[in-house]
Amino acid sequence: NEGKALHRERRVVEVKGLDGKARRFGGGKHIFVCGPDSPQTLEQTLATARMAREVGEKFGILDRVMLRGGAFKPRTRPTDWRGLGMKGIAIMDAAREETGLPYVTEVMDQNLVEQIGAHADMLQIGTRNAQNFDLLEAVGRFGKPAILKRGFGNEAEEWFYSAEYIANQGNLDIVLCERGMKTLYTKGGYCRNQPDLNACTFARKQTILPIIFDPSHVAGDHRIVAENLMAACGHLVDGSITETVHTEAWRREQLCDAGQALVMDQYSILVEAVLEYETHV
Ligand code: PEP
Repeated sequence: NEGKALHRERRVVEVKGLDGKARRFGGGKHIFVCGPDSPQTLEQTLATARMAREVGEKFGILDRVMLRGGAFKPRTRPTDWRGLGMKGIAIMDAAREETGLPYVTEVMDQNLVEQIGAHADMLQIGTRNAQNFDLLEAVGRFGKPAILKRGFGNEAEEWFYSAEYIANQGNLDIVLCERGMKTLYTKGGYCRNQPDLNACTFARKQTILPIIFDPSHVAGDHRIVAENLMAACGHLVDGSITETVHTEAWRREQLCDAGQALVMDQYSILVEAVLEYETHV
């Protein structure tokens, strides 16, 4: 019932870095997950990871910054580039080694959970696999912290039931992530997915889990990423996962989701705006 829900203790999901600091999702401060859609080369990924670290140092929030990078890419079209696989995981390992920042990466196959999970600090279940129940249970059994994206056609309740599949295997370290829905309006082309911001607030009332927001997959265009994240901050999300690259040149060279990543200078401005907003709530 509503009264009980309001008094349940909220879950704080911790992800520790090699730097010894724990990123605490749901700990009352916005957690900034950033990095490439997918690691393409060691050089580019390291450059982006170093810049992520610099942003953390600049604002004194290193313990709130971590990396993202999907080495196994779910693509709508089978002929599109699908990531470097375990070679991409090795690149993410190197980025962690150099910066001390932990990383999250997507797992799509229940048979690869242990292999990828032996490297990654956090596993991501993407929108397309949000109702892949065998995968959810495998991630639950494995026990490492996980980001669960909402299926782009799922009702909020269905998303929470997916979280239950993980939780019922004994893993409560789940971070929910709203990343937008396919709707009639997205067909107009002005945004890639329609954000359901009220679902963020609803998730906070209905579950004990932290909730983050992915402005990159909502926007599909770097020019409207900031607006979307600031709107989500109004709904008091616990963090964000944002695609970033170190230069404009790499944004153009991206083999997956080109054009939606922020370059690091833009990201730094956005981080500052989120931190400023935080002082008012
Ligand atoms: C991603 O974050 O790399 C990704 C593919 O996201 P989504 O599953 O939300 O499309």
